[in-house]
Amino acid sequence: MLNLVLFGPPGAGKGTQSQKLIERYQLVHISTGDLFRAHISNQTELGQRVSKLIADGELVPDSITIAMLEEEIVKNPEAKGFIFDGFPRTVAQAEALDRFLESKGTAIAGVIALDVTEEELTARIAKRKAVSNRADDDSEKLKKRIEEYFSKTIHVLPYYENQGKLAKVNGIGNIDAIFGEITDIVDRLKN
Ligand code: AMP
Repeated sequence: MLNLVLFGPPGAGKGTQSQKLIERYQLVHISTGDLFRAHISNQTELGQRVSKLIADGELVPDSITIAMLEEEIVKNPEAKGFIFDGFPRTVAQAEALDRFLESKGTAIAGVIALDVTEEELTARIAKRKAVSNRADDDSEKLKKRIEEYFSKTIHVLPYYENQGKLAKVNGIGNIDAIFGEITDIVDRLKN
């Protein structure tokens, strides 16, 4: 299996690059943000529990997020691999993912981190706000999401760096050029 983590702050381009990666490598894409939004729009019990946290730009507790993610992995027994997008966002989530994949006889092959400055992020999300109806794209909520990233999620990077699995890619520039850099990394991981 080829399991990848696409890592980066809100607005780094994870969604865009994930779509291109799925097409190229036929992997199953798991975005915990998309899963939460589906729960919210379907008004499930989980959706009701998390909607305020998400609207406020705060992280959902690890126990809820990890259980939801594991369920999604189990739903795809035929997968050739997974692209994890927006997960893990805490070290506890990264540890849980490692344990879970190990129990399935597999592991994370590599982590691709999109490097984008805070200035660029704010500008991009302001643009996205104009076309998206995500309540958490408004500037106050966005500030909170970026804060959550720099206070909690950034610590996931040394976790994977210590495992020798981290590759950084400059996330500013042409989308296809960034994709080219990512595929170079993925192709090396495959071989
Ligand atoms: P995203 O679409 O990845 O930006 O996620 C949107 C929101 O969903 C985040 O701001 C969090 O509130 C929540 N969320 C998504 N993934 C996670 C995660 N791995 N851990 C905790 N909260 C998450």
